Amino acid sequence: MIAPLFLQRLERIHACRVEFDLDINTRPTTHVLGGYYRSRRLVRIYTHDTRDGRRPFRELFETFLHEVAHHLEYTEPQTFHAKVCHRVPGRMHSQLFWRILGELKFRWAEVVARHR
Ligand SMILES: [Zn+2]
Repeated sequence: MIAPLFLQRLERIHACRVEFDLDINTRPTTHVLGGYYRSRRLVRIYTHDTRDGRRPFRELFETFLHEVAHHLEYTEPQTFHAKVCHRVPGRMHSQLFWRILGELKFRWAEVVARHR
């Protein structure tokens, strides 16, 4: 099961103020890797590619961090030094989003480096 593993990894790099649900979905998709549903506080990861089957583990974790960054962007923008949520309607990824995702990736890279 990758859900508990991903949540365990996240705990090591960030303590979420607001919980979210995690759905690991095996329905094959062509382009969509995951999604975040704000009203339900739901992170969804699509594990299978229509043509190539199961996506590589590392890619799934990257998608997970991406969707978690969306969650954090909405639920605790102040944690990442922003006073308000900077999302511009109609634009998928705000500057704040990229800052959060960059920070998560940086912290995870540090964890990996420490255990090498
Ligand atoms: Zn996105």
